[in-house]
Amino acid sequence: MSNRSIELDDRVHSYLLDVSLRESDLARRLREETARMPEHNMQIAPEQGQFMAMLVQLMGARRCIEIGVFTGYSSLMVAGALPPDGRLIACDVSDEYTRVARRYWKEAGLDDRIELRLGPALESLEALLQEGGGSSFDFAFIDADKSNYDGYYEACLQLLRTGGLLAIDNTLWHGTVADPTVDDRDTRAIRALNLKLRDDSRVDLSLLPIGDGLTLCRKRGS
Ligand code: SAM
Ligand code: CA
Repeated sequence: MSNRSIELDDRVHSYLLDVSLRESDLARRLREETARMPEHNMQIAPEQGQFMAMLVQLMGARRCIEIGVFTGYSSLMVAGALPPDGRLIACDVSDEYTRVARRYWKEAGLDDRIELRLGPALESLEALLQEGGGSSFDFAFIDADKSNYDGYYEACLQLLRTGGLLAIDNTLWHGTVADPTVDDRDTRAIRALNLKLRDDSRVDLSLLPIGDGLTLCRKRGS
């Protein structure tokens, strides 16, 4: 018995996957293809993808945003949990990475639910606001360049409806956020956002030790 989260060694992690991961062949193939790329560590863990899909289903979400697509694993999970008329706005700067994503979205029959916006995500989010998208989204996932996390957070808060959910990835950043000897730009940006979130009365908050740390923020009413 313990009142803190269990530490997952390889054996327990493999057991967790064995008894709970329900991954489609297509999603597994996407992971295998991504695993051959040098940047493969950027992909979310499959159990996190399954968890996010459950959140989207629980909320009955229809309109979602993703910031940081890479080869498309998280977008595949989120879009797959939407109803047929649901929509995921997927933002990334990389045509090369998202070419892989688009191939899998199409094969999954989800390409009509996903709208890719190529370009710096801060600009794509600003465009969504200009188009009148404020307070209209149910769910957003932030998983792109860490130095812009605060900007993504502020833009997503405007885009989410009251009661909407924001999931922010890598908030434990391999543990470096808690290591005072580490002081690089990305770590500083995540630390600053974590502290800001703790005291931000605009949201309800929970930081889950899943994957590399996933912070959930529920937008409160004003
Ligand atoms: N969520 C993805 C998954 O499940 O595989 C992983 C996303 S990966 C950690 C980060 C992505 O952010 C990369 O694909 C990168 O091209 C993108 N990115 C980096 N800077 C960006 C920016 N300024 N605007 C939009 N996307 C950016
Ligand atoms: Ca991530």
